[in-house]
Amino acid sequence: MLRLPTFTYHRPASAAEAVRLKQEHGSAAMFVAGGTDLYPNMKRRQQTPAHVIALHAIPDLDRIEVHPKGGVRIGALTRLSAMEAHPYLRQHFPALVHAVAEISTPLLRNMGTIGGNLLLDTRCTYYDQTHEWRESISFCMKKDGDICWVAPGSPRCWAVQSSDTVPVVCALEADVELVGPAGTRRIRAADLYRDDGIQYLTKQPDELLTRLYLGPPGNWKASYLKLRRRGTFDFPVLGVAACLWFDGRKVQKANVRLGGAGSYAIPATETEQLLVGKELSDELIAEAGALAMKPARTMDNTDLDVYWRRKVAPVFVARALAACR
Ligand SMILES: Cc1cc2nc3c(=O)[nH]c(=O)nc-3n(C[C@H](O)[C@H](O)[C@H](O)COP(=O)(O)OP(=O)(O)OC[C@H]3O[C@@H](n4cnc5c(N)ncnc54)[C@H](O)[C@@H]3O)c2cc1C
Ligand code: SF4
Repeated sequence: MLRLPTFTYHRPASAAEAVRLKQEHGSAAMFVAGGTDLYPNMKRRQQTPAHVIALHAIPDLDRIEVHPKGGVRIGALTRLSAMEAHPYLRQHFPALVHAVAEISTPLLRNMGTIGGNLLLDTRCTYYDQTHEWRESISFCMKKDGDICWVAPGSPRCWAVQSSDTVPVVCALEADVELVGPAGTRRIRAADLYRDDGIQYLTKQPDELLTRLYLGPPGNWKASYLKLRRRGTFDFPVLGVAACLWFDGRKVQKANVRLGGAGSYAIPATETEQLLVGKELSDELIAEAGALAMKPARTMDNTDLDVYWRRKVAPVFVARALAACR
């Protein structure tokens, strides 16, 4: 049985105190929300904080609040199961609710939070293993080693963005709120991520994610499609999110993001550009889907055959676009 290492557990009663504790203990400390990502990682010694700062006791961060103009403010500590069951989200943000419902299993969605899901560690076959397994290959660049086993000549880590909600919130142009030593700031969710398997977040290590903001429903429609081996439990090996804004029957703006295909939710830029100003015909959808083959940077570090995953990306993009009609 894998056991947790010894650590000191902190339970701050406010966001300010959580940030202060993080500043005090620096890289020796990590925040924990539901713990469904962090604790397994600690058991495998992928993450080894000596101080764990639990966020449950911070008030008001587990709420879903609907603004009179239709936007939604979701506290970072909101459980995934609460989002799944929320009537307003179900009615107006079905793509996001679908992505949430696709995460792992009901038990884990009862523990896991939206904040933890947005900040989920990147994943790789050579990394998501026990300490002994990783030691047997002299570790890798992401933790304790200095080589990338996926691309041995590469100076960077290619671990995979594996959260189901990240591609969706990026496509929806949602915002996130961060609280840090310098105060509170609000940024586009898409700006929270960078294309690097190790430094996959742009936020400062001391910053706490406090809220997710969704804009009001309008002349847009979104969808999410997940590829995985089993119908439950498994992380996405491809997660396509599309959000299309319409002017009448014509596409005014398009956001298409490919999750599980690189270290961040990759924008399918050529697909997006092709759609603008046109009606969503079957031919256009097929052509726009085909353009998503290029940005799908699949590598041999997750489940299912790498070449097949790349070939299937255009099919998934086409289906996600068709679901926006
Ligand atoms: C068997 C299994 C299957 C899974 N399948 C999926 C899946 O299919 N799809 C998927 O997306 N995920 C999956 N997960 C991962 C995980 O369950 C979810 O991503 C969950 O939403 C993580 O939320 P959490 O609150 O438990 O995060 P935690 O484990 O508490 O935290 C995750 C990370 O975020 C940081 N963090 C958490 N909250 C904050 C905050 N407010 N501010 C700053 N930092 C914070 C932590 O320090 C940690 O680095 C799976 C996990 C398991 C064990
Ligand atoms: S992509 Fe390379 S460096 Fe990153 S976790 Fe995998 S093997 Fe390690």
